Amino acid sequence: MSKPVILTGLRANNDLTIGNYLGALLPMIDMAKRRAGEYQVNLFVPDLHSFTTPIDHSKLYNQVLHNIKVYIAAGLPIDHEDVHVYRQSYVPAHSELTWILDCFTGMGEMGRMTQFKDKSAKLNEDRISVGLFNYPVLMAADILLYNASYVPVGDDQTQHLEFTRDIATRMNNQFGELFTVPLPVPKQHEFFGKDQGLRVRDLMDPTKKMSKSDETGKGVVFLSDTPEAATKKIMSAATDSFGEIKFDMQERPGISNLLQILALLSGRPLADVIAEWEGTSSYGDLKKAVAEAVAAFLDKFQSRLAGVDESSLLAKLESSEKLMRASAGETLLRAQEAVGLRSGK
Ligand code: ATP
Ligand code: MG
Repeated sequence: MSKPVILTGLRANNDLTIGNYLGALLPMIDMAKRRAGEYQVNLFVPDLHSFTTPIDHSKLYNQVLHNIKVYIAAGLPIDHEDVHVYRQSYVPAHSELTWILDCFTGMGEMGRMTQFKDKSAKLNEDRISVGLFNYPVLMAADILLYNASYVPVGDDQTQHLEFTRDIATRMNNQFGELFTVPLPVPKQHEFFGKDQGLRVRDLMDPTKKMSKSDETGKGVVFLSDTPEAATKKIMSAATDSFGEIKFDMQERPGISNLLQILALLSGRPLADVIAEWEGTSSYGDLKKAVAEAVAAFLDKFQSRLAGVDESSLLAKLESSEKLMRASAGETLLRAQEAVGLRSGK
């Protein structure tokens, strides 16, 4: 019996942020450290997803390798035999299954995706790529090829995970048991011991999430920021004019975001951090405490990153990619047989 699969990926269109780290990387790596052995853990770089929006292509190849080093610096146990780290484009089945799934996906359901609406609103009509429009289908292929049940993603990806469940169920209804349907989002949160997905907010505009593709990057703490630059960003974070600290993501997202970042980076329960600060008017002191926690984290993280050995990383990629081509190939073949591209047994 093969082990249940936990899978996630982070686009390599830019350096990763503390939002990516806290929302996606850390929960996945914690799981890999504690449960590899019981589960198969796939942490991959969706390099094909990385240019659904325009990027500087001369940087992509190295950005992919850099981000994999980030995974390792963040603690991914790459020597474990149940941990797989790979680049999506090195497993051609991702593209091939996408085409098949594309032909069972409606234009309407893709057009309703809020990520598509948000991202396309920022681009001129002729720069909105078909890739941006149908990237949830590629994401579904990423998940379904490995029969992944658990897909830890931030709150912004919930709709795409729901689509993956829909297309898997649709194909299973038409062709018999082809794909493993990933667990519904609330069950995913339960598995990861959370009541909801995390959404780290942009420091300048806390009504929106922190994103690595943000145009200015002023409200974004990148894992590559110097501790000094990150301190400046935290100290100029937008808060509110209530004059009293209170945790309320709806009404006071700026200050609540800072409390949340402080809790996560210092490894303390959010309730303790709230109890310490709520009711005081020390906005400046809170910013200082957050800035210190962020600077200390970056300092430690960046020295671990500098020590990551590239040759063992490349060897791991090569062996994982070989294994993934074999296992993804099995699922692809089942899909090809189902739709009549292969003869079946
Ligand atoms: P982009 O702006 O390029 O879309 P992104 O920062 O949204 O970048 P993705 O590569 O789209 O990053 O997502 C990688 C993972 O990080 C996903 O699981 C996503 O849900 C998670 N994530 C992204 N932003 C945040 C955030 N602000 N808080 C928590 N998790 C996040
Ligand atoms: Mg995103």
